[in-house]
Amino acid sequence: MRIVIKLGTSTLAHKTGRINIRRVEKLCKVMSDLKNAGNEIILVSSGAIGMGVGKLSLSGKPSDIPTKQAAAAVGQCELMYTYDKLFSEYNHTVAQILITGADIEHTVRRANFENTVRRLLELGAIPILNENDTIATEEIVIGDNDTLGAIVATTFNADLLIILSDIDGLYTADPHKDKNAVLLHSVYEITDEIVAMTGGAGSELGTGGMHTKISAAKIATEGGTDMVIANGSEPEILYDIVEGKDVGTRFYSGKAD
Ligand code: GLU
Repeated sequence: MRIVIKLGTSTLAHKTGRINIRRVEKLCKVMSDLKNAGNEIILVSSGAIGMGVGKLSLSGKPSDIPTKQAAAAVGQCELMYTYDKLFSEYNHTVAQILITGADIEHTVRRANFENTVRRLLELGAIPILNENDTIATEEIVIGDNDTLGAIVATTFNADLLIILSDIDGLYTADPHKDKNAVLLHSVYEITDEIVAMTGGAGSELGTGGMHTKISAAKIATEGGTDMVIANGSEPEILYDIVEGKDVGTRFYSGKAD
């Protein structure tokens, strides 16, 4: 299978912004194993701004764009250093790709991006993508990595897009506020009712909330890729998702029908 895995800041970093070493080590181990089993992995990783906040000892997520960009520039190094180190332990090679909304919309740049990723996959490397936050200002921004994950999954005809976050999946209501909220395991159609179930809330250091995940699910499923939202706190959940077990929320593309 070709699998796109999107890791959110809340999965990769502690609330301080500093890297969650235990979690990231396990994630890289499981992803390496999935690759060893014959799957192709494309990673879409957030965490640059969060880790920059931690490394620069800033008091919280910055609100102004230049500080966010500076934090991203620092944190992106930390992210790639960590992935390179951990995937190397399992004999895998990583590649960094940073893009913006303008790159996706530009025919030639988009073609170059696609060619590079395809070649990396042929060469057996793991492409790791993030938005190029130092370039992307409001006008050319993709916005959040859930959307980027969906664009990547459909562009490269992935079999599955997995979004790991700090929530178990899509609930019928906000589980933090409503004790009757029920986790939905399967979604076959993204109706207005489904959209209404999403609040705007995201974690303190990340960008997307459930709303951006549902938009991503729409892009992915319309493009023929199933998408799963699951809790990344236990990285071994990736095995269950790939095996098609009932974890998290799965949005069906209808392709398998
Ligand atoms: N590009 C941002 C980062 O790496 C993340 C955007 C998102 O959280 O979706 O920090």
